[in-house]
Amino acid sequence: MDALEKNLEKLAELAVRVGLNLEEGQEVIATAPIEALDFVRLLAEKAYENGASLFTVLYGDNVLARKRLALVPEAYLDKAPAWLYEAMAKAFHEGAARLAVSGNDPKALEGLPPERVGRAQQAQSRAYKPALSAIAEFVTNWTIVPFAHPGWAKAVFPGLPEEEAVRRLWQAIFQATRVDQEDPVAAWEAHNRALHAKVAFLNERRFHALHFQGPGTDLTVGLAEGHLWQGGATPTKKGRLCNPNLPTEEVFTAPHRERVEGVVRATRPLALSGQLVEGIWARFEGGVAVEVGAEKGEEVLKRLLETDEGARRLGEVALVPADNPIARTGLVFFDTLFDENAASHIAFGQAYAENLEGRPSGEAFRRRGGNESMVHVDWMIGSEEVDVDGLYEDGTRVPLMRRGLWVI
Ligand code: ZN
Ligand code: ZN
Repeated sequence: MDALEKNLEKLAELAVRVGLNLEEGQEVIATAPIEALDFVRLLAEKAYENGASLFTVLYGDNVLARKRLALVPEAYLDKAPAWLYEAMAKAFHEGAARLAVSGNDPKALEGLPPERVGRAQQAQSRAYKPALSAIAEFVTNWTIVPFAHPGWAKAVFPGLPEEEAVRRLWQAIFQATRVDQEDPVAAWEAHNRALHAKVAFLNERRFHALHFQGPGTDLTVGLAEGHLWQGGATPTKKGRLCNPNLPTEEVFTAPHRERVEGVVRATRPLALSGQLVEGIWARFEGGVAVEVGAEKGEEVLKRLLETDEGARRLGEVALVPADNPIARTGLVFFDTLFDENAASHIAFGQAYAENLEGRPSGEAFRRRGGNESMVHVDWMIGSEEVDVDGLYEDGTRVPLMRRGLWVI
């Protein structure tokens, strides 16, 4: 067995044992791009070896998706298989685990009319809602495992031949997910313990705000009332721990939508709608980004901020140490899961209800400072040049990060 095969097997095993933390006799429902066929078979094998009773997979096919988007009358694009997602939601409520294989060609829908693509995606989002709610509410254990799709590999390594690009992307995935370590399962246990210790520390302190200080950055991010820090393995409603994201390096919480002040400069490029936005900066007043610019790709960023009122406010603040395995790859992945976990970040747009005590919704959510928007876009503001302090309401400071590293 060569090194690639061995690591693929370790990744599949990590996804089943740590990502899902599969229960004996549990059903698995997987979704994957059709290109991942061999990897999915490996995942199924590992699932059966670790107690799965039934592994069902639904493949997505970009070629079919393109054909439909090009051929059917406009009005037909409002159709999506609601029956399928209702059945998935039912299966999740009855205890099936959800395994999502991520990794797609960012250019899959290139050249198609954006209005048609948008209309089909809206219908898809509406139909998907029951399944998404079950996932978001942790009705069952779930995980997302990365797959080095050739289209994705070409976006990350545009200069390389496809085969070489795929091989390099797998290497980066193994590094980011700790699969390159001797015992990845043990490495993740240690990693989760470290993340949970940070979460416990931050939740005990009940900081009023965080302060980021670095080149071009002097930003105070107020935290929502009754905010909760989260990170690492998450318990399902039935109390079973799972790791929804492989990789994950962040601990994160909800900012207060009206209490963000100061200036901030991005420390890494942001991949947005298939384009690179570089050198982002923003000035906040009363929670709103009143001035925003970028050295490159400013137009895409400005369009994002015009989505709705909440798009100019923050819905997440996350702390990630600068010396993490994703940052060490030195790559831009064009994939949020990887790119956001490379550095401390903030997100324009929607906040997560699980970052507020009691998971409030509607008016109660807003009153506590939760932000609402159709978008959620993370951008990276941490580096080895950025310090972070926790601030109490009386102004007392606690150093949290110095030169990008935890000091707690
Ligand atoms: Zn995040
Ligand atoms: Zn985020």
